[in-house]
Amino acid sequence: MSTLVLKFGGTSVASTELIKSAAKIVKKEYDNGHNIAVVVSAMAGTTNNLINYVNDFHSSKSDSGEFNAEYDVVVSSGEQVTSGLMSLALNEIGVPAISWLGWQLPIITNGPHRNANIRKIIPDKINECFKEKKVSVLAGFQGLSSESRITTIGRGGSDNTAVFLASSLKADRCDIYTDVDGVYTTDPNIDENAKKISKMSYEEMLEMASTGSKVLHTRSVELAMKNNLTLQVLSSLTKETGTFIVDEKE
Ligand code: ADP
Ligand code: ASP
Ligand code: MG
Repeated sequence: MSTLVLKFGGTSVASTELIKSAAKIVKKEYDNGHNIAVVVSAMAGTTNNLINYVNDFHSSKSDSGEFNAEYDVVVSSGEQVTSGLMSLALNEIGVPAISWLGWQLPIITNGPHRNANIRKIIPDKINECFKEKKVSVLAGFQGLSSESRITTIGRGGSDNTAVFLASSLKADRCDIYTDVDGVYTTDPNIDENAKKISKMSYEEMLEMASTGSKVLHTRSVELAMKNNLTLQVLSSLTKETGTFIVDEKE
């Protein structure tokens, strides 16, 4: 049985209606007989709003470790909401699902608050869910420090959560659902002559990500390359095949 990790970015879960549509995509893959784990971002705009709340508390201590630790507690909360809502949406359409926050697996991180690195994901609870035919919905962007504090892993970091999880589960593919139907030669929202790429190598994607294209987080591409994990970038709003990111030899 193959294992898929499906990641939904902020625009794909920006409302309860969109979460319900995304849940239908998950159901289709589940009904095809795959083991499914889902990773969600916060609703589009939510993380920025949460950061604005935190910034209202700027003080002389705003650079302190403690300030940044509480920043992570607040700013990670958007993903808690969408993981629960996605799980509700799945259960409503007959797909047994359960949500998990980073600390519950746990997702172990090191490095500074606000920009921690995932070191390890303990996938046991998700594997248990597979045995029980349940879909796991994991909150992206967050983890747990060695001091048992909540961490976040940098803006756009849910891509890393998804790719790290897929690698830990030895998944067959990680699908990144977003608001464009694939990777283009340049940003299609800026350049109307941008062309969709059907298949590209990790190296080509890395070059794009490191020169500022935010369609995939650089660290997630590096990690996929290291683990030879196939990625697909596709839209949650259309049924089109996306862009596959694979080993150069393929
Ligand atoms: P998500 O919230 O789903 O993670 P992002 O906003 O992080 O989505 O990434 C998707 C956006 O990346 C697209 O809306 C697009 O404007 C932008 N983008 C930049 N460069 C490219 C590219 N080369 N191909 C496709 N999208 C690109
Ligand atoms: N919600 C976080 C952000 O806006 C993480 C993500 O969407 O990947 O940066
Ligand atoms: Mg993104």
